[in-house]
Amino acid sequence: MASSSGNICTERVQGKVEDEYLCSICHNLIWKPIACKNCDNVFCTSCIQQWTNNNSSCPFRCPQFEEKRCPPMINALLSKLNIKCKFIGNGCADVHLYDSIEKHEKNCQYQQLKCQGCSDLVLKKDLTKHELVCAEVKVECIKCKYIYKQHDKHELVECLSIRLDIAERNAQSSRGKIEKLEKMVENLETILHEHKLICPPLNQILQNIPLSSLEKNWYIIYDHPYSWITTTEELRQLYIKCIDKRILVGAINGSSSTVLALAAIGPSSILQLETHVNGSMHYSNVYWYLASNKAFGFSPSPIVNPYNADTASTDGDKRLSWYLSRGVGGYRAGTAIDLLNDNNWRKLIMTEK
Ligand SMILES: [Zn+2]
Ligand SMILES: [Zn+2]
Ligand SMILES: [Zn+2]
Ligand SMILES: [Zn+2]
Ligand SMILES: [Zn+2]
Repeated sequence: MASSSGNICTERVQGKVEDEYLCSICHNLIWKPIACKNCDNVFCTSCIQQWTNNNSSCPFRCPQFEEKRCPPMINALLSKLNIKCKFIGNGCADVHLYDSIEKHEKNCQYQQLKCQGCSDLVLKKDLTKHELVCAEVKVECIKCKYIYKQHDKHELVECLSIRLDIAERNAQSSRGKIEKLEKMVENLETILHEHKLICPPLNQILQNIPLSSLEKNWYIIYDHPYSWITTTEELRQLYIKCIDKRILVGAINGSSSTVLALAAIGPSSILQLETHVNGSMHYSNVYWYLASNKAFGFSPSPIVNPYNADTASTDGDKRLSWYLSRGVGGYRAGTAIDLLNDNNWRKLIMTEK
């Protein structure tokens, strides 16, 4: 009858084996016993499973096989048996109790395993040594990932040449990606220009910006030489022209110049500010102040002194400050200071249509 591999033949059992420990299907020692509920006969689990695949009756002709746990007595007797390792033919002399033989055989050093290289069967205990010298075993160069038989030579020149190829391929694919990205940026810029979405950066103080670089919807609402006496009321009234719009406050050097030497963009509500002495409001990275009858302007840092206009010298080229209602013009456009009577520098305020 059918015998499942792994079942234990009687020769592997030390001492005499009583017939009642034998499976009536495979005639080997019962392995992982299971009983018939009707006749109490015990079989190997794998044997009876195979049997019931083709039969509904029990091998002992009970009309229906119904399984039952193996009687504890049989389990107790089986677990006392000493079993020789199934790799005895390969040289294993181990003998283990019924319950631990399976675990031993799983790790037995005398089982045969396939060599990764030549596919020969080699005893587990010898496999590492064999694979170290087996000509067919393949290894991978950690530097160039080239896979070669370990007995073949992988010369440095070959390795370098492969690595060069890889580097070139990577560079090529990077170049391709960069070209694609550049095209995308170009397309985006075109779209943005079409929709007039590109404007000078708002989060910083602008220097040397041609008026022509501003979008067409910007127009001038305030244009006076620095000698002009700017008043608080002037600025407050300008606000009416630009409610909910942005404003640009800047300075131009020369009556015919069209380049903003210094400028900043912010919300028109700046014209309604009432900042305290040494106080300022910042929008993005620009600090604005408007202290009635004192001074108006912006600075890249919150340290301002609008009572006397902003006289600080740190980042002086980014500070714009006008006296307000003080009976004089001035005061500064970046590092050009004391512009109280200056007719070359112009104060400029613009807004959007
Ligand atoms: Zn069996
Ligand atoms: Zn039965
Ligand atoms: Zn063994
Ligand atoms: Zn091999
Ligand atoms: Zn290599």
